[in-house]
Amino acid sequence: MAQLLLEIVTPDKLVLSQDVEYVGAPGLLGEFGVMANHIPFLSALGIGSLMYKSGGKAHYVFVSGGFAEVSGNKVTILAEVAERPEDIDVERARKAQERAKQRLEREKEQVDFARAQAALQRAFFRMKVRESAGTVASLAH
Ligand code: ATP
Repeated sequence: MAQLLLEIVTPDKLVLSQDVEYVGAPGLLGEFGVMANHIPFLSALGIGSLMYKSGGKAHYVFVSGGFAEVSGNKVTILAEVAERPEDIDVERARKAQERAKQRLEREKEQVDFARAQAALQRAFFRMKVRESAGTVASLAH
């Protein structure tokens, strides 16, 4: 199957550089999918789970904010935050989810609603990406 080069970069590191068959990413205006020979394309990224397929297998990376660029069979993800499943601390995400939920239950005037909702979304997708990879033991193999 025709391949694409996927590069995921954050301000402090190169998270991934790999030949893949497919990339599905959370654009700000909705999910988009890219296969080889896609037309050039640019999109802002929202908060969610980026999926790529390599060797017929699906892999997931948590992303939050930034841009995706598709050009010449290369997908560049310039993300504000990008975490592979093994980098995600589930307990931290669970606590962040609790905090965000509590904030959202309070009186609206006392809370930055959009900020709490974004925190809730980040926590939800971190847990989802982590769960998609199975147990910590299976990540090591
Ligand atoms: P928290 O309230 O726990 O800090 P957050 O969603 O506000 O969560 P971000 O602003 O998205 O955090 O990220 C700040 C930094 O902390 C980033 O470098 C990010 O990779 C890291 N980070 C946040 N939550 C986790 C997590 N659950 N596991 C691993 N790294 C995390």
